[in-house]
Amino acid sequence: MEAPDLRRRSCFLGHRLMTLASPATLVEAPALVDRFGRVHTDLRVSVTDRCPLRCTYCVPASGSTPLPRTSSLTADEIVRAVRVAVAHGVTKVRLTGGEPLVRPDLELLVQRLAALRPRPELCLTTSGIGLADRAQLLFDAGLDRVTVSLDTLDPDEYTRLTGRDALHDVLAGIAALPRASTKVNAVMVRGLTEHAGPHLVDWALANDLELRFIEQMPLGGSPWHRSDMLTADELLTVLRTGHRLTETPDDTGAPARRYRVDDGPAHVGIIAAVTRPFCGDCSRLRLTADGQLRSCLFATDELDLRTVLRSGADDTEVADTLARCVAGKSAGHGIGHEGFRPPVRLMRAIGG
Ligand code: SAM
Repeated sequence: MEAPDLRRRSCFLGHRLMTLASPATLVEAPALVDRFGRVHTDLRVSVTDRCPLRCTYCVPASGSTPLPRTSSLTADEIVRAVRVAVAHGVTKVRLTGGEPLVRPDLELLVQRLAALRPRPELCLTTSGIGLADRAQLLFDAGLDRVTVSLDTLDPDEYTRLTGRDALHDVLAGIAALPRASTKVNAVMVRGLTEHAGPHLVDWALANDLELRFIEQMPLGGSPWHRSDMLTADELLTVLRTGHRLTETPDDTGAPARRYRVDDGPAHVGIIAAVTRPFCGDCSRLRLTADGQLRSCLFATDELDLRTVLRSGADDTEVADTLARCVAGKSAGHGIGHEGFRPPVRLMRAIGG
């Protein structure tokens, strides 16, 4: 028998999550709240650290060594971790990596996560390579939303940036997605985005796609210096030479500032993670490909959930590890502060 859909039957009372498990039973579980009162409802899971691309801002020129396969979480372990997180108030799960599409069992994983109750919203971040053939299967399995990463529409520049001649494949992937469930993210790269950005905006408008630009963060790729990075304000100046962009108020808590293009209805978003951090509203928790819990992309410590999952511990201990991770979260990512150190791990293992 199919489990009842409890999505709309959970609510927070203070910081306790109340879930209607059956018509007669209210199950109470503590929500994941940190010492600054931020409630964690968003879990990002790196389902693999492997990726066919070598984006210059993501991977060092010297390359990277993949994790041993035995270190990576199995589908059973991921489903269990998400099940416990969902019981403690996580409502949105983003599958990322590495490149999630390198997992041949991704559709099955999505199907299993979609069967959880309360059912979390299921999102995927992908390069889009190989997506054309799998988009329908993934949505049939229960995927709700997809974000495709695409920084330029020029095939040669795409190849230079990513190390792979695959732009046509990415565009075919995007074409296979339902428009309303799709976003495109472009990292802002100095020397590229100043001219690629306006093309991306025109293309997104023509294809009815939501486009967001992201400031480049210090995450293990090419050397990063704050003074060299292309900032949100600089990009806005460039984009405004071609379009009228009007900032629109947004109370959804989304990290992107949204700008109405030429009086609408289309919008473009800019995620100024470095110059206008949004840590005060952060509701995210991350699970790395090898099962380490992180409270922030830039956290300096991790909690070893994989060992807990493999130790025969019960769900209370899994929940306790989630809660301890949240309890240790810093007020902000600290980029630009004295003593800031980028994470030792690459973005692909942490999960973007
Ligand atoms: N392979 C998938 C993809 O290409 O979207 C998912 C993983 S990728 C690490 C997730 C996102 O992180 C991508 O949008 C990528 O552009 C972004 N990213 C990687 N390094 C970054 C950096 N240094 N600054 C900002 N975004 C970065």
